[in-house]
Amino acid sequence: MDSPQPMHQASILPSAPDFSLGHKRALVTGASRGIGVAAASSLCEYGADVNLVARSLDETEVVADALRKRGGRARAAKLDVTDLANLPHALQAIVGDGEPFDILVNNAGTNRPAPFVDVTVDDFDAVMGLNVRSAFFVAQFVAAELIRTRRTGSIINMSSQMGHVGAPMRTVYCSSKHAIQGLTKAMAVELGHHGIRVNAICPTFIETPMTRDFLASDGFRQDVLSRIKLGRVATLEDVTGAVLYSRVMHRPW
Ligand code: NAP
Repeated sequence: MDSPQPMHQASILPSAPDFSLGHKRALVTGASRGIGVAAASSLCEYGADVNLVARSLDETEVVADALRKRGGRARAAKLDVTDLANLPHALQAIVGDGEPFDILVNNAGTNRPAPFVDVTVDDFDAVMGLNVRSAFFVAQFVAAELIRTRRTGSIINMSSQMGHVGAPMRTVYCSSKHAIQGLTKAMAVELGHHGIRVNAICPTFIETPMTRDFLASDGFRQDVLSRIKLGRVATLEDVTGAVLYSRVMHRPW
């Protein structure tokens, strides 16, 4: 019978990923509530220095304050990511004299459910403008800074299951999230050789301020639950692991 392997042969074993983020700087958009708060919280918990941005500074400050009280490094800034003329300047002001962002959670997003034939140009522009146009240029800023400073990093686009399927009342939202899927794939192909990883997270329904009203309708909730085999709507905690996992690389950055 073979004897057990001696301990000094442990180097043949692959190592587990290192989730610590003590030397990383993160930017989370749409971090005043919902999934953005969860993403910021998980990155902060693992040691990242997290910059939280949204339009409502007061709400974002409350989140940053809670993260600091828990012992984390976090600061809030007011930023409307749809204001593209000001975006590079505003993001540069947040970077300041410090290091570029190593991690982006490109999360700010919205939905205006409506029957296809009733979608207005304003609805279309609002959803596509935030979910696609702004996400594109926030990611462009972060990637350009990483490339300029020859640093590696991780860009995480908050997509949706609606980036893979169709749904009634969601023609614009589905279009926007399918666009994010294409953007993520093309960015990953183009930026990989710079050591910049690009991933999309595609959650199903999570109860947040964005979905609370839809899910309050019994008919809608039952329809959603009938297609989720676990029999429950997702929680914010279901997404935080994916945020941490998406930024992990098996070699040190
Ligand atoms: P939410 O509760 O409505 O939060 C949206 C966040 O985006 C808020 O912090 C909001 O803050 C910010 N935001 C909106 N417009 C902005 C702008 N112009 N500039 C900067 N920040 C802006 O939404 P959520 O449910 O957490 O969703 C977050 C992301 O996950 C979205 O991309 C969404 O499509 C995606 N998602 C959600 C679900 C779900 O079931 N909840 C499922 C799949 C994917 P201010 O209003 O203060 O700016």
